Amino acid sequence: MTLNGLVLKCIGGLYTVKTDNEIIQCQARGRFRKDGISPCAGDQVRIKKDGNSTGVLAEVFPRKNYLVRPPISNLDKLFVISSVLAPAANKLLIDKAIAVAELSGIEPVVVFTKADLGSAEELYRIYQRSGIECCVASVVSGEGVQQVRQLAQDGICAFIGNSGVGKSSLMNAAFPGLNLKTGEISQKLGRGRHTTRQVELYELFSGGYIADTPGFSTFDMERYNVTDKDQLILGFRDLNSYTGECKFSSCSHTCEKGCAVLKAVKEGKVPASRFESYVAMYNEIKGVKQWEQKSKLV
Ligand code: GDP
Ligand code: ZN
Repeated sequence: MTLNGLVLKCIGGLYTVKTDNEIIQCQARGRFRKDGISPCAGDQVRIKKDGNSTGVLAEVFPRKNYLVRPPISNLDKLFVISSVLAPAANKLLIDKAIAVAELSGIEPVVVFTKADLGSAEELYRIYQRSGIECCVASVVSGEGVQQVRQLAQDGICAFIGNSGVGKSSLMNAAFPGLNLKTGEISQKLGRGRHTTRQVELYELFSGGYIADTPGFSTFDMERYNVTDKDQLILGFRDLNSYTGECKFSSCSHTCEKGCAVLKAVKEGKVPASRFESYVAMYNEIKGVKQWEQKSKLV
């Protein structure tokens, strides 16, 4: 029998697939490796059921989007989590995660956690002005938890942010049934960077899915397929809204005369930190390209 389903997780080559009525454990035959497709959580698939609740993956349907590490596809929203303090927020990391989401066609949502420890006002102002959905949250005071729950209840959502910023605590507070390990326990179990644990999607009562994404914390752009410096501006919606007025169509928006983005930054229309992140990322991508070119010459 052939059925369509959603891959919830993959452990050791065994895929857990949710169909309309049941959960089926599937093997993937060698074919996928040959085609260069590695099925992952979030994939919409066609399966052939061959037993009571077992089957074989037959086809992976085209993906809306795909993030490499950890592997997950078809995300609707990426929650970029940053604590106000402990650890202090890093705007470059926030902007990288937002850009990765934007360039992948995933809606970013920025959440400032641990608001009980310090003020999120400056951060909130920067991102709210950029037109990105933002919230301020604390699992201690309960602030923002309801808002996060509402924003995350549809589609497939994942939470990204460095270890210790409060991702698991916030997901647990918003969706108590998840019961994710937090803090010290999670570190002991190796939910940190070097973990081998895999992504897992949890179904919510609302019908949406939340991804538990251990190790979803490094924003190495090469890894996330952000390699085209000329496209990078599309990852910064606030800066991008000025590019139509730049004097040169080849403008890189980093230093040119007649650049409308630079002008907007100087006039205080766009937060300087957003522009600084853009330039840092632009130079990083340029560096990668140069290195690649050199290595090709050798
Ligand atoms: P993760 O690594 O991003 O999943 O972070 P955790 O959820 O494991 O939280 C890391 C640490 O921060 C734990 O000790 C939590 O108790 C603490 N923490 C999480 N959220 C908050 C918060 O809103 N306020 C305060 N004060 N501490 C928090
Ligand atoms: Zn420009």
